[in-house]
Amino acid sequence: MSRLLILFGLLYLLYRKARGGSPGRTQSEQEAGSVKHDILIEDPVCHTYVPKSQAVSLDRGDKIYYFCSRKCRDAFCRKEEQP
Ligand SMILES: [Zn+2]
Repeated sequence: MSRLLILFGLLYLLYRKARGGSPGRTQSEQEAGSVKHDILIEDPVCHTYVPKSQAVSLDRGDKIYYFCSRKCRDAFCRKEEQP
């Protein structure tokens, strides 16, 4: 019986860890900071939303496009070249 209680105790600890471990304030502050930097931008090729910091950019003078990967950027270039 006591073994079972210990098992439940461990599960409870794991559960709390999985939900984010350390208590509240500092973590939410960090999250708020990172959200500021990571604006989500839509990839015009595959329509995925990517964080700006990780996006592949393409400068077209008047406009800068952002893509989830080089593959999508290349696809976008090819599409523009062919009428
Ligand atoms: Zn893409």
